Amino acid sequence: MRARQGPLVDSVFINLIYLAASVLFILGIRGLTHPRTAVRGNLMGATGMLLAVVATLVDRQIFGAGPQAYAVILGGVVLGAGIGATLALRIAMTAMPEMVALLNAFGGGASALVAGAVLVSAADPSAQMTVATVASGLIGSVTFWGSLVAFDKLRGLLLPDAPVVFPGQQVLNGAIGLVALGLGAMVVAEPGTIVFYAGLVAVASVLGVLLTISIGGADMPVAIALLNSYSGLAAASTGFVLSNNILIITGSLVGASGIILTRIMCKAMNRSLINVLVGAIAEGGGSKSDADAVYAGRVKSTSAEEVAMLFDGARRAVIVPGYGLAVSQAQHQVRDLANLLESRGVEVEYAIHPVAGRMPGHMNVLLAEADVDYDKLKEMDAVNPSFEQTDVSLVIGANDIVNPDARTDPSSPIAGMPILNVDQSRTVVVIKRSLSPGFAGIPNPLFAADNTLMLFGDGKQAVLDLVAAVKEAG
Ligand code: NDP
Repeated sequence: MRARQGPLVDSVFINLIYLAASVLFILGIRGLTHPRTAVRGNLMGATGMLLAVVATLVDRQIFGAGPQAYAVILGGVVLGAGIGATLALRIAMTAMPEMVALLNAFGGGASALVAGAVLVSAADPSAQMTVATVASGLIGSVTFWGSLVAFDKLRGLLLPDAPVVFPGQQVLNGAIGLVALGLGAMVVAEPGTIVFYAGLVAVASVLGVLLTISIGGADMPVAIALLNSYSGLAAASTGFVLSNNILIITGSLVGASGIILTRIMCKAMNRSLINVLVGAIAEGGGSKSDADAVYAGRVKSTSAEEVAMLFDGARRAVIVPGYGLAVSQAQHQVRDLANLLESRGVEVEYAIHPVAGRMPGHMNVLLAEADVDYDKLKEMDAVNPSFEQTDVSLVIGANDIVNPDARTDPSSPIAGMPILNVDQSRTVVVIKRSLSPGFAGIPNPLFAADNTLMLFGDGKQAVLDLVAAVKEAG
């Protein structure tokens, strides 16, 4: 596909740079698949983006618009980069899903706005342009409002974390979807009448809100990955509106990777995609057993000294990090403890659940920050068969990902979610501050199991105490 204006040589040159940028994006994504190559992958992606931006800026379409256009672009770059850099520097790692939700929102909103602006200014829009504009407006608006709702729910600002459901919701969503498609058809039939596009954006915005308010609790990360995919599809559609190859390619890459991530997360959280698409009622389907009934009289608390004695006789220990490890920033202390145990002849591995923490790869990032050897990080399927041969499983700030109810109680809201089978170890030590539930809001019978000891306290402090106790014991 050619750029819309300018001599062919310009178009060929620009498209060659776009091609180089696309190759860098793909190599970058490949690099991100392993911690060892992730930094290089990130750099490749950033270089690709720089190439793409520079090529777009020297493209005749923008160059021909004169210095005023550059002044506006520069203003946008400075403002956007300033806000983006400030947010990125200040955001806590645990709030990353909210940040991703906001980024998705801006991507979707920008796609819908750019497509609309092109439609308004086009003298004689082609069928490709109008159909793509409808797709951008529809998907972009759903993404924008859906992502803002996701952000709000995660932040707990206006909307409840629980699903907002009402009778006839799916029928209403279907009807609104049909109205949006009808308005889309009107945009294609009469592109000059901009009110149809405005109507499409308004109706799709309502749809975006309705589709996302019904998603709650444990489904939200899946919804964010899906909205990420939508933002890519909206960008790709805008690429067709502008006949801009790099936007089509990048949008498709984001769309595809978002849907792949959605699938991986659906599997890890045992939500079917169609369930999420129609607004899964994550917390409505199962009973939340009463915490008292699960814990009363059965929970055994322990001390750092007692756990140090357990380690003394252990040959193999598995560390299971969860959200609380991230909150307490205990990764460096955990690495020290693991090194200490290894120096005493204990084999130590880390069990990584795909949705531990609050974002995919959360635990990998934290442990990499503390220079934990990648080879010691074992994914769920690899480590699960080894729990039966594990003397001590040390669960640090994890809850849902080790909840055996997922395996045994079909009425549990997390029934069927694959978990780390720590309960099969000889002894389980759980570090957390209280018996409070995790993200899914349900009690965890692991804490009351015969072979479980609770080491109550803040993650970092508890591990520091453990290090001291192990040193003292040895
Ligand atoms: P959970 O949210 O299930 O549990 C975390 C536990 O950490 C809590 O029970 C809490 O107990 C404890 N905790 C909190 N602060 C501290 C602290 N300072 N020191 C010690 N413990 C602390 O976490 P998991 O990692 O087990 O599971 C992740 C959950 O998040 C899953 O339900 C998943 O579906 C969901 N999720 C995952 C995302 C992802 O992509 N990874 C994204 C969004 C959600 P207490 O208060 O008693 O200390």
